[in-house]
Amino acid sequence: MDINKIGGEFGLIERLTKKSTNKQVIKGIGDDAAVIKFGDDYLLFTTDTQVEGDHFSLDYFTPRQIGKKAVEINVSDIGAMGGEPKFFLVSLVIPKTMDVEIIENIYKGMREACNKYEIEIVGGNITHGTQLIIDISMIGEAPKQNLKFRSGAKPEDVIMVSGDLGSSTAGLNLFLKNIDGFDDVKRKHIEPEAKFYKVKPFLKYINAMIDVSDGLASEVTRICEQSKTGAIIYADSVPIKQTTQKAAQACHKNALDFALYGGEDFELVYTVSEENMDKVKGIVVGKIIKKKVVRILKDGKEETISGHGYDHFLTNV
Ligand SMILES: [Mg+2]
Repeated sequence: MDINKIGGEFGLIERLTKKSTNKQVIKGIGDDAAVIKFGDDYLLFTTDTQVEGDHFSLDYFTPRQIGKKAVEINVSDIGAMGGEPKFFLVSLVIPKTMDVEIIENIYKGMREACNKYEIEIVGGNITHGTQLIIDISMIGEAPKQNLKFRSGAKPEDVIMVSGDLGSSTAGLNLFLKNIDGFDDVKRKHIEPEAKFYKVKPFLKYINAMIDVSDGLASEVTRICEQSKTGAIIYADSVPIKQTTQKAAQACHKNALDFALYGGEDFELVYTVSEENMDKVKGIVVGKIIKKKVVRILKDGKEETISGHGYDHFLTNV
């Protein structure tokens, strides 16, 4: 059976997983990271894989950028749970003919990120294969009061985002179409950064949170699934930079589609009750509703949207 016939990546995860009954597992599958109670501490576990030719290409990424990105995307998932990253393991699959310098530069990029977050590589594995693959498993921690789940959204909450969206997918499209210029937009794709620092000052007012790896529509849907709610996304309020709009035009694509269904912006999407809105920063992009459906409000019209953002098995934005 084809993976796209069972709902792509998320359908596959659902088929393969089973709910944990271990009391130490505070959150298993279904959030940005797993949360394990370990003594008095709460540990966060996450993992992410970057595959050459699928997630990145050495045609437009430097090895240093690939290494840095591999770390940043894991840091983003730990941050989306309200946690601080601590240590990680790296598994590398390397083609036998690959130049040692490339591998050294990937590690340079990873160390750069390590210095930035004061985290450390504590082990890993190296093997050979046909494609370059970088797989990172990261551990982080959070005090109980800082833990944020996708499941915490309540009807009437406002949905906010920490920054502009769509630029990473615009950057990717520029590279794929060999379009010159737009260096700032391209940089968003090849040098993404975790954005936890933006929400840390007002974390206690956040009810639910997720990072944007698969596009706003997908992330809001994930929050709604876990919170057993629905949502309305205000399309006209989705923050998209003018340079992103221009880059999308140059690619003959729609920047709003990049923001909704693209991904890898690594901004944070969070919900806040109306009375706490003045205590937080961010851009309002929607509202949580009771009815379990995700709709988009555009030019005064409401329509139900597809919840799938970027899915390796389904979409191609
Ligand atoms: Mg995530």
